Amino acid sequence: MKHYGAIEAGGTKFVCAVGTEKGEIIDRLTIPTETPEETIGKLTDFFSKYQLTSMGVGSFGPISVAKNKEDYGYITNTPKLAWKGYPFIPELEKRLGIPVSFTTDVNAAALGELTKGEAQGLESCLYITVGTGIGAGAIVGGRLVQSTLHPEMGHLLIRRHPQDTFEGICPYHKDCLEGMASGPALEKRWGKKGKDLAENEEVWELEADYLAQALMQYILILCPEKIIMGGGVMKQQQLFPLIRKKLAEYLNGYVDLPDLEEYIVPPGLGDDQGITGALALAHSIG
Ligand code: ADP
Ligand code: ZN
Repeated sequence: MKHYGAIEAGGTKFVCAVGTEKGEIIDRLTIPTETPEETIGKLTDFFSKYQLTSMGVGSFGPISVAKNKEDYGYITNTPKLAWKGYPFIPELEKRLGIPVSFTTDVNAAALGELTKGEAQGLESCLYITVGTGIGAGAIVGGRLVQSTLHPEMGHLLIRRHPQDTFEGICPYHKDCLEGMASGPALEKRWGKKGKDLAENEEVWELEADYLAQALMQYILILCPEKIIMGGGVMKQQQLFPLIRKKLAEYLNGYVDLPDLEEYIVPPGLGDDQGITGALALAHSIG
């Protein structure tokens, strides 16, 4: 039986898995993100126990996805300085001696949901995470959206609410979507942890407004058949109905969408969408 490797590489932890042709996970390891050398050493130890056919990686980034560039597979501009400029994918290929396919963490999550989760059987979907940052991955016509760059949908510009005086925390743009609506933005604006703001309706009204604006733009450009919203902030389940309502208001009937309760949903795979997508990527090349 063939075995495949999968990695969900995050800024705080790496989730590793070995799976079968059918996508069953037979072994798993979670390790903290340390320096590249330490982390790669542990990954090599874990995966070397198996004869793998290929590997898929969903990675934090930015990461270079341009096949014709010298830095293909390198982590590029990350705030995790030890990883900046690190040849992550080439190094994995060299150490493990197998082909490695990779994409962003959120693209892998979208692929996971399409393979085994909420978007199963569809040929398009969007996965958005609202957590420490905001990012989204998309599949359109059965293909991951990426080209010379990968999408950076968290940095969309949005219309500021007239009563919102918060300046925003994005180091590049201040009041882009991530600067205004990520977990840390929310906590800075309101002076409390997200989970301690659960009862404050104003917080979630504003949050839903910004997220709905972003969704409107994703829908108008990418036309996904399903939108899956995950990440720490989306643990506030009351956001879902608020987002659907605001989105309907913003779109104002201009496009025909399915029932929004079925269209905008929480992840179907809990926390496993990234690793499931990474495994699907491995299958696609092995
Ligand atoms: P990451 O984005 O780092 O992978 P998460 O998706 O868990 O991790 O996001 C973490 C952020 O989500 C925290 O900074 C916090 O602001 C926010 N968060 C986590 N849990 C909750 C919660 N229950 N309610 C609201 N916000 C939360
Ligand atoms: Zn930004």
